[in-house]
Amino acid sequence: MRKPRLFTPGPTPIPETVMLRMAEPIIHHRHAEFVALVGRINAHLQTLFCTKQPVMTLTASGTGAAEAAIATLFQAGEKGININNGKFAERWGKMMNVYGMNVVDVEIAWGNAISEDQMRDVMKQNPDAACIWLVHSETSTGTYTNIQAMARVIREVAPDTLICIDGITSIGAHECRMDEWDLDVVITGSQKGLMIPPGLAFVALSERAWKKAASVTARSLYFDLKQAREAWHDNSTPWTPAVSLVIGLEPALAMMMKEGVENVWKRHTLLSRGLRAGLQATNLQLYGTSPSHAVTVAYLPEKGRKEFIKLLKSDFGVTVIGGQDALKDVVFRTSHLGYYDEADMLAVLGSIEYALQKLGHEFEAGRSVYAAQRIFMGVE
Ligand SMILES: *Cc1c(COP(=O)(O)O)cnc(C)c1O
Repeated sequence: MRKPRLFTPGPTPIPETVMLRMAEPIIHHRHAEFVALVGRINAHLQTLFCTKQPVMTLTASGTGAAEAAIATLFQAGEKGININNGKFAERWGKMMNVYGMNVVDVEIAWGNAISEDQMRDVMKQNPDAACIWLVHSETSTGTYTNIQAMARVIREVAPDTLICIDGITSIGAHECRMDEWDLDVVITGSQKGLMIPPGLAFVALSERAWKKAASVTARSLYFDLKQAREAWHDNSTPWTPAVSLVIGLEPALAMMMKEGVENVWKRHTLLSRGLRAGLQATNLQLYGTSPSHAVTVAYLPEKGRKEFIKLLKSDFGVTVIGGQDALKDVVFRTSHLGYYDEADMLAVLGSIEYALQKLGHEFEAGRSVYAAQRIFMGVE
């Protein structure tokens, strides 16, 4: 027997309570029972996003939430800045292009986050931008960007530019306070920190963004957020939602509410610290300069570079994932986003040690688990 253990940053593992709830008979999305359920979910989503604004649930993968925001808020020819520091960040520049926007693509070397000084320069050069996109946790490189600090700089230089945040792997992992930090668009997806299967996207707009939306004719029918907001006030959606996923969302959010959003953030901080310390204790080198709390990226071992990921799967049922583009066959990515605890980190570190020993990597066996335990015990 091999127990499947998924350590990928989306899809992420699904709690048993969520799977069981989704297996129950489906209900109709205009029925009172479903409307009541959506009402409960909507309140929890606002708590999770730290906002009083509607958090709209769309039936799409996370990318759909960004597309909805762009189609609802911007016109062709408007300037959009894209802070491009990875594979996902790159997508938002491409998307603004599709919608005919004038894109200023700011390339930041992979594995790095933009600094406050760089951000100030970008905004000074483009104070007329209608929006700026930033990825809070860049999943391709495991890079965290300090959104609170960046938002402050952006507002200072260009108060009207809409601050749009890809929170797809930060919501539920990193502190993200939409209202307090004055963010205009925040998006996430279901298969990441929310612990349910892929298929739902979530998006909230600020008061400032809604004002902007009022002056724009949405360039999508399905993704018109003005329609979504109207339906939101009736605990509904304009179109048929992915009913089973919405049903599964309730116990997932209930788990997060019971733990408390701040404690969910703290757990992710702890797990990521433990995993990083453990990997370093195996003499593997961490990738990047600003680690995300959702996913940890490390260089593959010199010996058995091509076998390492396969070996983890065949011998332990452990699925980690390789790098993308230039990082293919260079790094591996281990997730701690969503339904994970300390024991999961010890299991993945123990499995990694085993694979490294088999591949002849030089390190002192047992050290990684010990290093993580010290962090989990609070003595390091
Ligand atoms: C997964 C991910 C996306 C894309 O989401 P899809 O659900 O695949 O559309 C975008 N941004 C980040 C940071 C992600 O991790």
